[in-house]
Amino acid sequence: MLIEDGVITAIGKDLPHVADTRIDASGKVVMPGLVDAHRHVWQAPLRGVGADMTLPDYFRLILGRALSAYSPDDARLAVLLGAAEALDAGITSVFDWSNTTVTPEHTDAVVDGYAAGGLRTVVGHAAPSGEADLQRLAAMDGLVTGGLAIMGPQYGSWEDGVREIAAAREFGLPVSMHASGGPGSPFPRMHEEGLLGPDLNLVHMNAMTPVEARMLADAGVAVTVTPVVEATMGHGVSAFGTFLDAGGHAALGTDVVVNAPADLFEPMRDTLRFERMRSGTMYPAAQVLSNATLHGARSIGLGGKTGSLEAGKRADVILVDGLSHPSGGGVVASLTPADVHTVIVDGRVVKRDGRLLHLDLAALRTAGLELARRALA
Ligand SMILES: [Zn+2]
Repeated sequence: MLIEDGVITAIGKDLPHVADTRIDASGKVVMPGLVDAHRHVWQAPLRGVGADMTLPDYFRLILGRALSAYSPDDARLAVLLGAAEALDAGITSVFDWSNTTVTPEHTDAVVDGYAAGGLRTVVGHAAPSGEADLQRLAAMDGLVTGGLAIMGPQYGSWEDGVREIAAAREFGLPVSMHASGGPGSPFPRMHEEGLLGPDLNLVHMNAMTPVEARMLADAGVAVTVTPVVEATMGHGVSAFGTFLDAGGHAALGTDVVVNAPADLFEPMRDTLRFERMRSGTMYPAAQVLSNATLHGARSIGLGGKTGSLEAGKRADVILVDGLSHPSGGGVVASLTPADVHTVIVDGRVVKRDGRLLHLDLAALRTAGLELARRALA
């Protein structure tokens, strides 16, 4: 594979040896960087504090107490720590459902943090305060781009949801919202009114019916499942299989590290296990990789840039090690973040020989600990 100016320019056996840097990948799997389609990155310092939290506990302690304690500087540190943990685990793109964008200063800090982190990020703004905020999100066109993270018409009001989706479309921004689907959901009405489209990313959808799944898949709407958190918090069985039966390909997310790991290997494995139990088939393990890469990228508006290894795409590439017979299925079934050997984002090597090159993960964790103590006090 030849990478020039951040772009994959050729893949094949007889490439000219013109590169300045050569990386030997023999014995390893070379694959697209993983795409985390749903993560509340600001919670990175709070890892593990919510192992036994119910959803109401989570709303009160995390989205209430902790979030309100975050200053803009805290938000910067938190997303930098989250970016470092993601990169370390082979995640090269994230949709950050960014609850911390509560003031313009917080938003500046979050964007700053990502600029320093080197992770491809869609900053899903949760509270744009007007046209200027939307313009600024739409103007970001590098490694960090903008999106909207809205309450949505299932958990918020119909009118607000419709207005926010229209605003996002005016500015060309992808839109993500939490939703369960199921009886009484707003999606049939959105379908009737012609509001469904591939720029919408519905997260969780544990109650989605087969009819609803077909309607969403036909309209190209993205569904993101976060099976670890959904099972740990009791949201229900993953919608992955229901969506698959309808011809849809769900994206995967880590969601929150307060009660789930910071990597996509476990969501991939949970997806494989749930799908094999549900279908009673040997659903191919390697198939899950496409959900954590290509379908993830498409679901957050980055399908043209990343999510696969092909000439013309940005060079978001990882090398994973540790398999006696390198295969995609082996990656899904048996690997962990410790097996991520090399990580390249936009052509820049950010992890090599198992070590992050530009970010000091240990120092960020120490700083994050102090923030966590203060935020939860
Ligand atoms: Zn979420």
